[in-house]
Amino acid sequence: MIPSGTSRPAPQRSCLGCGEVFEKKSLLRFVASPGGELLPDLKQKLPGRGAYVCRDLLCLKQAVKKKGFVRTLKISALPPLAELQQGVALHLLSRVESLIGVARKAGHVCGGSNLVMQSLERGGELALVICSEDISEGIGEKVRRKAANAGVPCEQLLTKARLGALVGRDERSVMAFARGGLAKEILQELRTYSKIVGEH
Ligand SMILES: [Zn+2]
Repeated sequence: MIPSGTSRPAPQRSCLGCGEVFEKKSLLRFVASPGGELLPDLKQKLPGRGAYVCRDLLCLKQAVKKKGFVRTLKISALPPLAELQQGVALHLLSRVESLIGVARKAGHVCGGSNLVMQSLERGGELALVICSEDISEGIGEKVRRKAANAGVPCEQLLTKARLGALVGRDERSVMAFARGGLAKEILQELRTYSKIVGEH
């Protein structure tokens, strides 16, 4: 689909797994590293020929099975699927972490369960809530309910110590992101991470 108001259609690429054509930006890009290994290029900025796959474990598996990476990128040898899957997941996780850092510097992060819940009650401010994996059950339940009522996605990721470190605090079991491009990007990478890890 061509977005209205733009003169040129967004570039499209086909997925090596399912073979369908999608907007390039919505796909995962891979390149061959100088050493001839498969390298995820989440920012889609690395030089060289790219290979594209849907943000989906099934398509990644299909692409490996069909030897799409080997053919398209002249990769010498692919790691076993589990290893590849883990490598992609780690890339996604570190991308999410660095985006959280960017959001923090841009002043787009609100932290602490009370502040986040107050903001959810006011409505219209937040685009994404992240709870730590080790959040206390009671608080986690409260935050999830408030987020659901406000129509804001609520994801679970990392420990409170790790989340805290990303925003310069000791611990953060709840953090939220203001509406905008950064929150959208974090959510997209987070959801891809979940799909690639295969938790959902
Ligand atoms: Zn696909």
